[in-house]
Amino acid sequence: MGIRRQYKLKMIGEFAILVLLAIIGWATLTHFKTSELLIDFISQNEALQMDRILSAFFCLGIIGLIYGYRRLVDTLRELGARQEAEKRAVWLAEHDMLTSFPNRRFLEKFQRDTHKNGRQKPHRSHAVYAIELDGFKTNNDANGHAGEDEALVTICTRLQTLENTILVVRSGDAQFMIIINADHVPRQIRFAEKVLSEISRPMTIDGVQTKIGGCIGIACQPEDGDTLEQVCNNADAAMYVARETGRSGICRFDEPMKQRLDQRRKLEVELVLAVENDGIAPHYQPLVSLDNRSLLGFEALARWTSSDGTAVSPDIFIPLAEELGLITRLSENLLRHACIDAVSWPTGLILSFNLSSSQFSDPLIGLRIVRQLAETGLPPSRLEIEVTETGLISDPEAATRILGDLSQAGVRLSLDDFGSGQSSLAQLARYNFNRIKIDSSFINQFKNDKKRNEIVRSIVSLGDALEIAISAEGVEEENQLSGLMELGCHFGQGYLFGAALSPQDALDLAMNGDDRIKAPGENFLRDNGKMFS
Ligand code: C2E
Ligand code: CA
Ligand code: CA
Repeated sequence: MGIRRQYKLKMIGEFAILVLLAIIGWATLTHFKTSELLIDFISQNEALQMDRILSAFFCLGIIGLIYGYRRLVDTLRELGARQEAEKRAVWLAEHDMLTSFPNRRFLEKFQRDTHKNGRQKPHRSHAVYAIELDGFKTNNDANGHAGEDEALVTICTRLQTLENTILVVRSGDAQFMIIINADHVPRQIRFAEKVLSEISRPMTIDGVQTKIGGCIGIACQPEDGDTLEQVCNNADAAMYVARETGRSGICRFDEPMKQRLDQRRKLEVELVLAVENDGIAPHYQPLVSLDNRSLLGFEALARWTSSDGTAVSPDIFIPLAEELGLITRLSENLLRHACIDAVSWPTGLILSFNLSSSQFSDPLIGLRIVRQLAETGLPPSRLEIEVTETGLISDPEAATRILGDLSQAGVRLSLDDFGSGQSSLAQLARYNFNRIKIDSSFINQFKNDKKRNEIVRSIVSLGDALEIAISAEGVEEENQLSGLMELGCHFGQGYLFGAALSPQDALDLAMNGDDRIKAPGENFLRDNGKMFS
């Protein structure tokens, strides 16, 4: 019930009580014949002019009534305005300003209400579509933010016209959620296809033809969750899978996905604990000079064994740590361990350390690295930071600043996975790399593949011309090694020389060498002068 209505009822109640009191008063006065007594009193005391006084009281009563009525009207008006303002504030909090569509907050309220009602009517069921637009960034590049807004509004208008929707929500920057009454699977898929075709219908913005794609995850109640909230989360999970399958994918949530999701949640919890308890430590893969097989240093590779004893690959937990916002802490722990270990290696051996692309969004990363070097006593010239193109491309200004600072502090820089990206050559012109690491995909088959062979040859001569050391990754066989040596490649790493070693084994190798790798001798610097170009 609205405040205004409540207030009106209260006023009516009070008025009724007053009328009742008036009737009781009147009845009492009549019973005791008070009016006759009053008339007698007035006529006996004319000198007091009681009639005038009573008239004055009567007038005051009328004025009081009018005043009371006006106050009532004003109060009701004020209450109405306040109620409108409150309603507007709630609307603003629950809707997206640009498109006027309900937002996530509205969805949460809808979920709660549906849950409450569901207890009374448990048979109600829904199908939820989680949608993410793609191609939006490109659209933004071409048309700017105003263009992006216009595209969004156009898409919202199209989604609004879809039949049978219960609710359409703008759940994120480029994300929507549509709830419809549950339907059988073929019709669910047809609805998703209809949504996709509406999204991807070309539109003209500022005279530029723009086409936007999207991916959709579908989940249903009650099959995929008891509450609408669970179903929405599962639709989101299906949408992430659809996104992985490429442009314009549709994916229905299923049991194996649920299991993967559960496993992932378990892994997330374990990872948080592992990072907090410093349970992830580096192992070290030898980096070798190919012509004399002497040790140049080690690449630190993160190793983690989860609680059930499985070794989780860094290809899984590093991106997960990035997503969970744990990467800064994890990387700091790893670098601290690695620097402490590297200090005990023979002077001159380098430590190569991987930086994640997401770490470029941390403006303090250069400072953190230099601080760790100072704290552990490892000279900056013994640290090599490996970066991949992804980090350099996503924010070139930040990357230039960070890599410039590190370079100035004397830290070496290495371009990892060279050749696997899209614009490796552009990165070489932009930054001062000391080393290029040829991606292992070129080394795997390069002996049998003429084209790959030529690419490696060109990279090596590019390195010679630019005075950048070239390393080959993933060297597994003797014939790969001899091929690389023929092409003039100086450095390499791979299972042929050894996989990543525990800190103690790495120290033993650094001190004594083994049957595959020579320990660094007195002529280390002379032999490997190129390393320190
Ligand atoms: P990466 O930097 O390209 O590291 C080389 C990967 O190739 C390592 O996998 C290594 O074990 C593997 N490898 C080495 N030699 C051979 C070989 O001869 N054959 C084959 N097939 N593989 C070989 P790993 O340790 O699983 O690491 C995978 C990726 O995870 C790394 O790729 C790197 O991108 C990331 N990573 C590992 N440790 C860290 C870390 O401390 N920080 C960050 N940010 N990323 C890390
Ligand atoms: Ca690397
Ligand atoms: Ca690599």
